[in-house]
Amino acid sequence: MNLAELTWPRINDLSRDTPVVLPVAALEQHGHHLPVFTDSLLLGEVVRRAMPSLEKRVLLAPLQWLGSSEHHMDFPGTMSAAPRLYLDLLSNLAECFIAHGFRRIVFVNGHGGNDVPGRQSVFETRQRHRSRDDLLLLFSTYWLLGAKPYETDRTLVQRQMGHACEWETSMMLRLAPELVVGDVGELPPVEPGNAFEPAVRGWITKDRTQPGHIGFPHHATSAKGESLFRVFAQDLVAFLERVIAWDGKSWGG
Ligand SMILES: [Zn+2]
Repeated sequence: MNLAELTWPRINDLSRDTPVVLPVAALEQHGHHLPVFTDSLLLGEVVRRAMPSLEKRVLLAPLQWLGSSEHHMDFPGTMSAAPRLYLDLLSNLAECFIAHGFRRIVFVNGHGGNDVPGRQSVFETRQRHRSRDDLLLLFSTYWLLGAKPYETDRTLVQRQMGHACEWETSMMLRLAPELVVGDVGELPPVEPGNAFEPAVRGWITKDRTQPGHIGFPHHATSAKGESLFRVFAQDLVAFLERVIAWDGKSWGG
């Protein structure tokens, strides 16, 4: 069910156990070859592919395209909500649905920079409603739902998501090739590197890449993009089936 298409009385008739799914993405630089709306376009497609099998059982909110992309602000076109503002934005969105009685609130994320504020948001929201024992507040990222797409498609080189990388470029070649600029086969590889692990290093994108991408977009193909969309959509369906099946109390889900 699309929230945007329903009247308030129809929303009022819904079971409050209906999971509310909030897709959250970004508008930010994606190198010389991909459009700034890449994360929003890709997440929109993953969600679109997942929805038919969940049709009447989840309430899908419109995709929130403004993400937290401060680390990309050196690249023109990037739009960003600062992390604290973004954290509060997500909390506010969740509070709206909690105010209307919904108990299962699920953020589905499509941008790495949203991850830390997103996790903190659901954590803080839970603390505010600490007397409740029936709330399920989840923050998820579509490529971290269990997928090992390189096991399904052996032609994939990368083992993890980068930025405007083999994975994202392949999906854009599959979804909207007219928006991909130039011959991706000629793009230089940018190694993801090791950011002083196991420490966590504060960084801006310019520390890691000059062109703006991180990873191996020169390996991208449309066929790989189809494999990635299939795996990610299946993962999202399986994850949301778990949310639907939750017994309302358990920790395990
Ligand atoms: Zn991206």
